[in-house]
Amino acid sequence: MMTEDAAEIFCPACGYNLRGIASERCPECGLALDRAQLNRSQLPWTYRHEIGRVRAYLKTVLLVLARPRRVGEEVARPVSLEDARRFRHITVMIAFVPVMAAITWQLFVIKHDIRATMTRPIPSSINQQPAGVTWPAAAVVAPTHAWIGWTLETGLLPIVAFSAWLFLYACSGVASWFFHPPSLSIPRQNRAIALSYYSSAAMAIMPASLAILIQILLTATSPIARRFLPYIVLLGFLALVPVYQLFQSYLVPMRMLRRATQATTARVWTMGAVLPITWALLGIVILIGIPLAYLYVSIVMISFLP
Ligand SMILES: [Zn+2]
Repeated sequence: MMTEDAAEIFCPACGYNLRGIASERCPECGLALDRAQLNRSQLPWTYRHEIGRVRAYLKTVLLVLARPRRVGEEVARPVSLEDARRFRHITVMIAFVPVMAAITWQLFVIKHDIRATMTRPIPSSINQQPAGVTWPAAAVVAPTHAWIGWTLETGLLPIVAFSAWLFLYACSGVASWFFHPPSLSIPRQNRAIALSYYSSAAMAIMPASLAILIQILLTATSPIARRFLPYIVLLGFLALVPVYQLFQSYLVPMRMLRRATQATTARVWTMGAVLPITWALLGIVILIGIPLAYLYVSIVMISFLP
């Protein structure tokens, strides 16, 4: 695909601008240059229309996780920003759908627990009903205010869904702040930003990680499953999957940064410090802040009701 910066070709090893250079070797570092490969993207995602979307996506995730430095070197050739954006959106969605399923399930469990508490038989000493009579939930809450509770409950799920998606999307973009140092030419900065979107590939492991974490949680709270040793050992091994995802979310952007932007060790470590702090802050502001703001506004609105 031709882009406006197609003419800007850089040495994959040292980043030297090779425009107008006919030599078979890089004048800066002496790397043997394969002209046919210099312009051709090595990202499988670029060829999804030829090799199929699913295959191209999986191959790209594997490439990013296994060889982040090689992906960083892609800055030497044209990188499609549109392709990178699409990859990022799909990756965020793959992480979001199971997270949302788990949250929805959890909210229903809480709702069920509340309902079970509300419909518990009211002691006969408090009211004149015969002992053992179960009061329906609607009778406990004043009927005029029941619709408010229903609205709040219904509203909470989309709010939680939105904050979960926004959190994942924002996290996948934090690395890009570091991928456009002013020391690079503008076309190179744009390529590096596009490449940074591929660094979110570890998020694609989320469905497996989440399933394993939930399984561990269920096992830890079940006295029967806890006694079955081979299963505990298996879960112990599987626990490496979420650990791997966490480490890769952190290490892939750092490995890519050095190659993609010729970054100094100091800048790589600056990103290494900023990434987890920013993710934590985004978690507090988006995951906790937005649902809390919703609950606060709801409570204020309720307090104004007669
Ligand atoms: Zn070179």
